[in-house]
Amino acid sequence: MSSKIKEKTLKKLKRKSFWPSIVLFLAFLLVSVTIVFAGINLFATYIIGSKMMGLYNQAMDTGVMVERFVQEGDSIPYAVANATRLSRNPSNVYLTDAEGRRVASTGGTAPVFSEQVEWSMGEEYTIYKDSKWDYGTEAMDDIEDIFEFHVPELANRVFDSTSMEPADGPGINRWMEESIIEQQFWIDVPVHLENRNLYIKCNLQIQRQDVIYIMGLGAVALILLFIPLIFLFINTILNIRMQRRVTKVLYMDPVTGGRNWLYFQGQAAKMLGSAWNSRKTYAMVNLHMERYTNYLSCYGSQQGEELLECMDGFLRARMKRKEVFGHYNGADFGLILRCEGANEEECEHYCYLRLRSLLAELAGLQPERKLHFHAGVCMIPPMEAERGNYFVRRTNLDIDQLFSFAHTAQQTSHNDAEQIFFFSERLLEEQNWEQWVEDNMHAALAAGEFQVYLQPKYTPTDGRLVGAEALVRWVCPERGVIPPGRFIPIFEENGFIMQLDDYMLSQIAKLQSEWKVQGKKTVPISVNISRAHFTQEGLAEHISRLVDGYGPKHQLIELEVTESAFFDDKEVLVDTVKQLRAYGFPISMDDFGAGYSSLNSLKDIPLDVLKLDSEFFRGEDEAGRGAVIVREAICLARELDMRVVAEGIEQRAQVDFLASLGCDMIQGFYFAKPMPVAEFEVRVAADA
Ligand code: C2E
Ligand code: MG
Ligand code: MG
Repeated sequence: MSSKIKEKTLKKLKRKSFWPSIVLFLAFLLVSVTIVFAGINLFATYIIGSKMMGLYNQAMDTGVMVERFVQEGDSIPYAVANATRLSRNPSNVYLTDAEGRRVASTGGTAPVFSEQVEWSMGEEYTIYKDSKWDYGTEAMDDIEDIFEFHVPELANRVFDSTSMEPADGPGINRWMEESIIEQQFWIDVPVHLENRNLYIKCNLQIQRQDVIYIMGLGAVALILLFIPLIFLFINTILNIRMQRRVTKVLYMDPVTGGRNWLYFQGQAAKMLGSAWNSRKTYAMVNLHMERYTNYLSCYGSQQGEELLECMDGFLRARMKRKEVFGHYNGADFGLILRCEGANEEECEHYCYLRLRSLLAELAGLQPERKLHFHAGVCMIPPMEAERGNYFVRRTNLDIDQLFSFAHTAQQTSHNDAEQIFFFSERLLEEQNWEQWVEDNMHAALAAGEFQVYLQPKYTPTDGRLVGAEALVRWVCPERGVIPPGRFIPIFEENGFIMQLDDYMLSQIAKLQSEWKVQGKKTVPISVNISRAHFTQEGLAEHISRLVDGYGPKHQLIELEVTESAFFDDKEVLVDTVKQLRAYGFPISMDDFGAGYSSLNSLKDIPLDVLKLDSEFFRGEDEAGRGAVIVREAICLARELDMRVVAEGIEQRAQVDFLASLGCDMIQGFYFAKPMPVAEFEVRVAADA
């Protein structure tokens, strides 16, 4: 699974399991609590309402009785006293005239006409406060409070043993029926008595059982709603735990047990992308252990994994705040380091010192074994906004791209002495160039873009054209003529050099036989055979068959082997050279004297031609030391029965000097540069 897909899956997982559950849980909690409170309120209102209805009906009965007694001829005070006495629930009555003046009353209190409230329960009632009634708590000062529940107050009273009005009956029933809240007030009862208003005093009693019912209902509702809530809560917790576990697995490296590449990518992007960190210089580092495969084959994969685990632990301990690292693959780790310094150079130097000590410590992880580490670094400078002096986010950061730059830098190391390499534009260009060459080489060969150029070889004494070297040129329609130095090393790395050398060899064989057929003068032409060829089994036979496909004499095709090839598998090389000579191909040692020369190679391998490297003829040679070596090399070649070609000759004086030493051939710009075949043919014809 690619890292992008993994990241997407993780995001989906987070979205699915985590937030919806939390939101659902909170929403459900809110709705549940609201429903429970609304239900309790509704039930309470219903209980009060029904009690009020009862009181009102009783008051109406008393009012009807007063009306009837008056109609039967009783005086109003008498009718009032009689009705009060006979009513189901005897209560006080207050009678006024049209102006509100008292006409008759029972009991000592009166309605307070200024404090009234309209209350509706199907019908509208007007209720008045009682003049003497002490409403008890402060909260009950207002008549409207009669109808409001104050839950803590109620709860207190439920369990308060002192009741307002003890009930009759045994035990629990009595306790339940005891009234715990009482409110007295007056109701305006509509009666048909001429210019008279009748008010009847009511006593609203709330019993303990009323409150217990309401609270019981609330509790049941809460329990019923909380069961799914608890399930939802457990589900949310499980989801969060599951998501954490999945995240852990997703971010855990199976080899090191530490953080993996996906984690590194995510964290690195987050850290580098944050506006706050944009002020800092960072470095992307590719830490690499050299020859890890050797380590594995020597000590086994178990020990190899243990070493990586150990490296992971070491790096974890060395990382500072706002730094991150992760295992890439094999023995490669990615690191993001914070670099301190006032400018670019200081930051780079800081990074270099930090890495140097890290690498030194890493090398000592297993003192009994020699471990080598390299680091490639790609610096990530701070971001500065174009306008003003403030910093902005580093957007569109491609962590993989940065790492590939660090990796490119790391790969430029070819020896153990230097360990830290910094990425540069030049490296990038090289990398791009390599890629372009690899992408186009096959098509170019098929399209004949690789062309044979020939550089003639002349005798130094009389300047006769006696041979030539075949040198390849990539004639690219878009990029023009590309010299071999730009692509041969790449082909040697990727193996394409075999195909190219075969192609050059067959081109020369073809030319030689064509010239022969056309009756033109032929001279031996040397072809470069890369050292990479000598790993190929049956190389001599292969070359012989290739040349024979065109039929020229083998003596006309000389094979140049660079001196450096003699440091590879010498036995194979000696065998192959011997076989090639047996097939009749002259063999020359190219670039003799360049790099690490070994005269020993001349001892073991029978060769026909020695090509003195052009370096002998470069630069100042005031002390004449180069001249001494050239003289001795020519003597040596003579003694060993070899002909000598001097390469890179650009001056007349050099030609004369070489002529005086008895050098056989000169190949250099003094006589001719490498040229296309047609031009070469003209030269040969002119020389003939
Ligand atoms: P080399 O085989 O040593 O070829 C000689 C190089 O020296 C050629 O460079 C030639 O152009 C250059 N040269 C000759 N005389 C002078 C001079 O007077 N002054 C200067 N400055 N240079 C001179 P070129 O053609 O660029 O080839 C470079 C190398 O590429 C060759 O070195 C050879 O190692 C390799 N090469 C070229 N063609 C082939 C090929 O077809 N196959 C293989 N395997 N290697 C090739
Ligand atoms: Mg050569
Ligand atoms: Mg050479």
